[in-house]
Amino acid sequence: MIDSEDLLQRFVSYVKLDTQSDPHSLSTPSTEKQWVLIRLLEMELKALGLYEVQVTPFGYVLATVPATSPKENVPVVSFWAHVDTAPGCAANPKPLVHRAYDGGKIFLPDDPKQVLDPATIPELRGKQGETLITASGTTLLGADDKAGVAIIMAAVRYWVQHPEVLHGPVRICFNPDEEIGRGTEKLELSELGAEVAYTLDAENPGEVNYESFSADEAWVTIKGVASHPAGPRESWSMRCGLRLSFYRPCQRSGPRNKPKDALASFIRWKSRVERKKSACGCSCEISKWPAWKRRGDGCRPWPIGCNKTIPGRVSR
Ligand SMILES: [Zn+2]
Repeated sequence: MIDSEDLLQRFVSYVKLDTQSDPHSLSTPSTEKQWVLIRLLEMELKALGLYEVQVTPFGYVLATVPATSPKENVPVVSFWAHVDTAPGCAANPKPLVHRAYDGGKIFLPDDPKQVLDPATIPELRGKQGETLITASGTTLLGADDKAGVAIIMAAVRYWVQHPEVLHGPVRICFNPDEEIGRGTEKLELSELGAEVAYTLDAENPGEVNYESFSADEAWVTIKGVASHPAGPRESWSMRCGLRLSFYRPCQRSGPRNKPKDALASFIRWKSRVERKKSACGCSCEISKWPAWKRRGDGCRPWPIGCNKTIPGRVSR
């Protein structure tokens, strides 16, 4: 069995590190702070005596647990977890360990309004007596996917300490930038060198997902004719009609869909009356100018909506 105390201590130490990714960055990893955990994992894997411990220029941590099985041609299996956590929430979580959970409400001390109640959170039911770990109320915990990272590291430690447990070669991979949809972008399958791979990044114990959600993102700009709200409603009709035609696929999506039906999900909808030429010659929305100016490195392909750069500046 994996040493559960080792697992807990690893998890707590990993979640304390701020490793949020950034969808606006074009580098890989998208944030410098992910390197802190990447280097820590490299050090820990070396300390455990693993073979072929390597960090790629894009921040993928790779290592091999050698086979203990005397059989030949045992397939190489890989285990993955991502080091980044979701952007957009406050960082630097303070993990709280609740040993022997009493089955009641959990009050999070840093924000009295945050109460984890089994009446509204079914996942808490049946967990009485177990050890739970929560954030303190003002941040995400980052269990996605520090839990996966900690489990793999605790499993590696177990395999190293128990060579009598027979297995084939195991490839470990920790990757950056999963939360922004770029988790596998900068690693070749040949670098991984495994026949099958499992990602430890799920919800419930014992759950195995054999298919995954797949999505693309689209930015749609509808150019209409500016009109005063007091004008005739016909002058509004084109903009509204186009807007509705994009909305309909989203309406069709819902819990009654068959599992593999395509769906559309609107993330953001903005209406502007005017657009204006920016200094770079692109018609960026006026509302986006402050962010664009602050970065001072030219327009980026996303989310600004143009791919030009200011002469004399280097685009990243
Ligand atoms: Zn995840």
